[in-house]
Parts: sequence; structure tokens; C-alpha cells
Amino acid sequence: MSRSEELHAEAARFIPGGVNSPVRAFRAVGGAPRFITRATGCHMYDADGNAYIDYICGYGPLILGHSHPAIIEAVERALRDGTCFGAPTQRETQLAQAIVERVPSIEQVRMVNSGTEAVMSAIRLARAATKRERIIKFAGCYHGHADYLLVQAGSGASTLGTPDSPGVTAGSARDTLSARYNDLDQVADLFAAHTDEIAAVIVEPVAGNMGVVPPADGFLQGLRDLTQENGALLIFDEVMTGFRVHRGGAQALYNVTPDLTVLGKIIGGGLPVGAYGGPARLMQQIAPAGPVYQAGTLSGNPLAMAAGLATLNALDDDAYRTLEQTAATLESGLRDALARAKVPAAIQRVGSMLSVFFADAPVQSYDDAKAANHPRFAAFFNAMLEHGVHLPPSGYEAWFVSLAHDDTAIAETVSAAVRSL
Ligand SMILES: *Cc1c(COP(=O)(O)O)cnc(C)c1O
Repeated sequence: MSRSEELHAEAARFIPGGVNSPVRAFRAVGGAPRFITRATGCHMYDADGNAYIDYICGYGPLILGHSHPAIIEAVERALRDGTCFGAPTQRETQLAQAIVERVPSIEQVRMVNSGTEAVMSAIRLARAATKRERIIKFAGCYHGHADYLLVQAGSGASTLGTPDSPGVTAGSARDTLSARYNDLDQVADLFAAHTDEIAAVIVEPVAGNMGVVPPADGFLQGLRDLTQENGALLIFDEVMTGFRVHRGGAQALYNVTPDLTVLGKIIGGGLPVGAYGGPARLMQQIAPAGPVYQAGTLSGNPLAMAAGLATLNALDDDAYRTLEQTAATLESGLRDALARAKVPAAIQRVGSMLSVFFADAPVQSYDDAKAANHPRFAAFFNAMLEHGVHLPPSGYEAWFVSLAHDDTAIAETVSAAVRSL
């Protein structure tokens, strides 16, 4: 038994499944998760002393890589000043300002502690601002684990969502309508069937939680038009794409302006943060400026603000150029390896997020993603792990490239892929 296996068995006695978030448990790929003892740059080290080139990168936050000196220094300094006050600090303003300066649609922003919490708060605001209750989401997009977002598409003639987890009530699922990603006609149909009922459409502007699925040409602009025509708000969930695909998020990359934006991951630099923002006319409705209630004991936590600020400060134009080059090199290396092995695959990439679907054609929706060969992914994952590359343990997750992934790491990854196919 490996040390990771022992630690996992021990953890499973005290923690459901031995993990604090389900995908970490390797259920989709088999085996025991590697227990990590430390990580630096693009490398993670497990309890058995194995080293891995890491493409999880904390599921997105670690765009600078692990244990980046600027983050360590910023957090250490903040730590010495005190860990939380329950009173405002200038660091909160500084991170808010850094976000406002970069993201086109955001004039004001509220910090929370997770992406889940930020999405819930943004939807509450959208419902308050429109005085409507229903929302439209897309199958395969993940927006955190709030009840009314753990919803699957209704079957047959019903467009109403049904619970996707025990414990989610039919009542909370009823207000969530579900459409196919990249299918504007379905969204138009939902608006037609529910005139004046839709508060907001929420979308991952690049889907990253069914593997990477880029928006089809015109999809995001089409959502902008449909929401505007129907008096609904457009919410971009940029928890993953924010500061990842572009300095101004996906909205800057695709030049489509949402009403509300949800952020997380990178803005916390590896510490727990979420945020939501938009124009002042909407954000002024949030308490205490306005009547829409939302609060948090640890919101705007000084350590998290320090880590987020250090991360955003390191992300200049050069950094995005480097990320693009590194990820493009990885993509082309993987493409060659797959072609040489004659394995049909769709490599889908936007900036430094990518994924490999073992599929014959490009993946444009959750139906396509489900149709990919996931047992084949599991085999590939385990072979890569053997060869010292730690991919996310599911074919429905994005791989993240960081600024710490250098030419050597990319070459080693491609060589591992050649041996793993
Ligand atoms: C990760 C993620 C979330 C949830 O964020 P948590 O911090 O895990 O609650 C929401 N939306 C998207 C697009 C995400 O990638």
C-alpha cells in the first residue's frame, strides 16, 4: 500500500469519501488520490515522494504556479498585521480597484469567500433588479452548488429544471430553465415560453466545467441581444475565465459586455475568495447601499486580498503572451502525439485552459462532452500519472497552464503523452 493509499483510507474514516470536494477522489479515473505534501512552481510532491508536473493548479487559481515568491511575501506581510478584523481594510479597496480597472463591465465589486457564494449573490441581485424569479443556465456549465443551480434539463415537453442531487427541492429547481450550450435557438424558445419571467441568463463565457468548450461564433453576442430584448440580465460566470483567458476576462476577449460578472479562483491567488460586480446602478442595490441583503464574516479577508492583489499585479501583458505561447506549445505537442498514435481526439483550448476529449469531432455542448470516450481518458490519466504528470482526474475538467510551466515541463509533458497513448 502506498502512503497516499494509507492516508486516503484514514481520511475516509473522518471525511466523506476522504476528500472535501468530490472530483479530488479519483472516482472518474480509479485508484486513490495522491496526497500532496507540498508544491512549488509547476511541480507537486506527494506523500510517497513522487514529483508531478501539475495541470490542476488548484483548479484554476494558481496562474503564477505554486508557492510563488510574490504571494508568499504578500501573505506573510498581511499575516503579521492580523488575520481578520470584522472591520474594513484598505487591501479590500485595492483589490476592488484592480478588478474594476481590468474588467470592462465592472464599476463596483463585492468580495465573498467562494465562487458558489458569489454566484448566489449575483443571482439574488438579478432577481431583485428585474423583479423576476426564473433563470436560464446551460447544461454542463457549473456555477457552484447552490440548490437552484444543481438542476438538470427537464425531459420532454417540460422546460422546467429537475433536481440534479437529492436534497434539492422541486421548488428550487422549478425556477431554473436549462438550455444546450452554444444553442441560441433553445434560449430564444425559453424566452418565448416564459415571457417576462426570466431574471437572468447565466453562462460560463468559455465553458470549463465540462472540459473546455469555447463559445461558438456569435453565441455570447446572441445571449447579449436576447437578454436585452427580453428585459433580463446577462451574467457571465468568470470564476474560471476571469484573468485567465485575458487581462479583462472572457468579456474583453470576446468583446461582449455582461450586466453582472462573477469572479473567484485567480482573484484569491490560492486563498478562498469570490466576488461579483457590475455597473454601479446595479451594485448600489446591495446592502448597505441598497436593500438586497448579502454579508460575510470573512469576506474581504486580508490574507486573501493580499494573495489576490499580488496575483493580479504579476499578470501584465507579457504574462498573458507567455501563457498563450506555453499553452500553444503544449497543444501542438499533444496534437502531434495523438496524431502519431492515431488516436482520435479533440484538443480544445482558449488561452491557458485546455482539455483533451477522446472524441471524433469538436465538442460544442454537454451532450457532445458526455459522448466522448471517458474510459479512454481514465486510462490516459493513469498512464500520465505514472509518467509524472498530474492531470485533473476527470475528462470533464479543464487543464490549467501556469506561468511556472517552462519549456522543460512542456517537453516532459509531451514526452509523457507519447508514452501514455
Ligand atoms: C469553480 C467554479 C465555481 C465555484 O467556485 P467555488 O469557489 O468552488 O465555490 C463557479 N463557477 C465556475 C465557472 C467555476 O469554475
